[in-house]
Amino acid sequence: SKMNGTSRIAEYEAHMQDIFVKKIRLENDLQIALEKEELSLHYQPKVNMSLGTISLEALVRWNHPQLGMISPAEFIPIAEETNMIHDIGRWVLRQACRDLKKLQQAGFYDIKMAVNLSARQFLDKQLENIVSHIFATEKTSPSFFVFEITETAIMKEPAEVVPILQKLKQRGITIAIDDFGVSYSSLNYLNRFPIDAVKIDRSFIRNISDNQKGEEIVRAIISLSHQLHLFVTAEGVETEEQVRFLLEKGCEEMQGYYFSRPVPFEQLPVVLEHVQSL
Ligand code: C2E
Ligand code: CA
Ligand code: CA
Ligand code: CA
Repeated sequence: SKMNGTSRIAEYEAHMQDIFVKKIRLENDLQIALEKEELSLHYQPKVNMSLGTISLEALVRWNHPQLGMISPAEFIPIAEETNMIHDIGRWVLRQACRDLKKLQQAGFYDIKMAVNLSARQFLDKQLENIVSHIFATEKTSPSFFVFEITETAIMKEPAEVVPILQKLKQRGITIAIDDFGVSYSSLNYLNRFPIDAVKIDRSFIRNISDNQKGEEIVRAIISLSHQLHLFVTAEGVETEEQVRFLLEKGCEEMQGYYFSRPVPFEQLPVVLEHVQSL
């Protein structure tokens, strides 16, 4: 009925209003979250199956005083829109350097550390200077670091991104393409960008043991990446079946709940021991 339709529209408008109000609130609160030390890093292991070595990915968390834990999937886009991503990105890299140093002091000498960089950071002309400054002041070697960037990030301004990637690589940083395979142009840029590794998106890994075509696609991605001398990581690995399939296809590195969820720094020693025992 007309009444029903009208009230549904009103409901929808109220819903949109809520989303809008929350977004404005997050925008404002994010400004001070860094100063109030509400951001923290969780770490998720990545396991190199053939070498038996472990690396880590730093994943940012926001513990909001009233709203609780807010997912980076929700606040990173806001940080990008408001340009706060630059401050957050610097903070993430610095904190990751400090935590890595603590791990080294605790005897984990050759752990590599991956951080996520958003497109906005890559289009910043100052990126190389900022990054060099952080590594210098934290007295950390860039060669311990992997920068994970999404394909959409590098596709935005390919001509500008290539020299930036080259400079970062010259400093010893490993460049990995995150969420690999999601964009329509994945195959198109593989030979155009100076990259070292690809991280196959979880949406593909999910299909392993689920459907034949899905498996074929993963097999093809691994095989193509190897022909291009790229290191392959699989993200979102949750089952033993997936581990077996990926091992058999020669995937070098795996990450996902099967091994460990992302954990706060304090829990890392226990998690690293657990993963090493698998
Ligand atoms: P991502 O880089 O693709 O990270 C993987 C996401 O999948 C993480 O979510 C992780 O917790 C989750 N995950 C890992 N293993 C599994 C699994 O086996 N199953 C399932 N279902 N999920 C798994 P999270 O931590 O919520 O991060 C979401 C996204 O936020 C990240 O996706 C990344 O794009 C972004 N992000 C996180 N930290 C940062 C950061 O410091 N800077 C930037 N620019 N972006 C970040
Ligand atoms: Ca990532
Ligand atoms: Ca990813
Ligand atoms: Ca993903």
